[in-house]
Amino acid sequence: HPVIETTDISKVYRMGTEEIHALQSVSITIQRGEYVAFMGPSGSGKSTLMNIVGCLDTPSGGRYILNGHDVSNMTDNQLADVRNREIGFVFQSFNLLPRATALDNVALPLIYAGYGKSERQEIAREALRSVGLAERALHKPNELSGGQRQRVAIARALVNNPSIILADEPTGALDTRTSHEIMDLFEALYVKGNTIIMVTHEEDIARYAHRIVRLRDGLIETDVINHEVNTHH
Ligand code: ADP
Ligand code: ADP
Repeated sequence: HPVIETTDISKVYRMGTEEIHALQSVSITIQRGEYVAFMGPSGSGKSTLMNIVGCLDTPSGGRYILNGHDVSNMTDNQLADVRNREIGFVFQSFNLLPRATALDNVALPLIYAGYGKSERQEIAREALRSVGLAERALHKPNELSGGQRQRVAIARALVNNPSIILADEPTGALDTRTSHEIMDLFEALYVKGNTIIMVTHEEDIARYAHRIVRLRDGLIETDVINHEVNTHH
């Protein structure tokens, strides 16, 4: 089965008497191992769609099947459970715990997954190694560069072996060179078989994805395979 399958999902925000139709009718299927960029102008519904796909919110209408589970009508607790198991999040602002070392930041999701301490440290060390940061394991975020912080966040996203990596503007806080380094890392994760979905408004960054979905006014405007994937190897 596909890893993501949405059928006619809509999202309405009610603000007093006003209704905002953030998503109108979005149907999208994403297979395991795809690398997809969501693009679109501000207000087109990217964040809303990411929030639903990431099980941070539920649609107002339509159906969302994640990895074979119908999550359209789950309670907040059920949703949190699915989220912790299935999704690794990467954010623009890294969202690391400032007082914790890189290793402890990466190990955090493993606490919820029920691993013991030594096992957590071992798995987290391996995840840091996989993003090229083995030597920085005991550094705190403020002792790391922006690119290194984002690598820590990516290691944290990977540590639970999620079905999908969801990255919301992952290069938004990085300079151009570092952005491309992070995109090279995403490409390597894609080659290893990870499923990646990222939201970006930067064409240069979207070109790394193998499929580009453009939203406008809460609808999918175009959904195309990217035949000119940007790789700098
Ligand atoms: P994008 O990420 O593409 O900028 P959003 O998904 O954030 O788009 O927003 C889509 C539309 O929904 C916009 O008109 C936005 O103002 C509105 N919107 C988003 N979130 C909320 C919310 N929590 N409450 C009310 N309106 C919202
Ligand atoms: P992004 O920079 O990713 O597009 P936004 O700044 O649009 O994010 O939104 C940040 C948060 O605020 C999101 O959780 C979104 O749902 C919410 N939001 C966006 N627009 C509105 C709005 N008009 N009213 C209330 N909340 C909103």
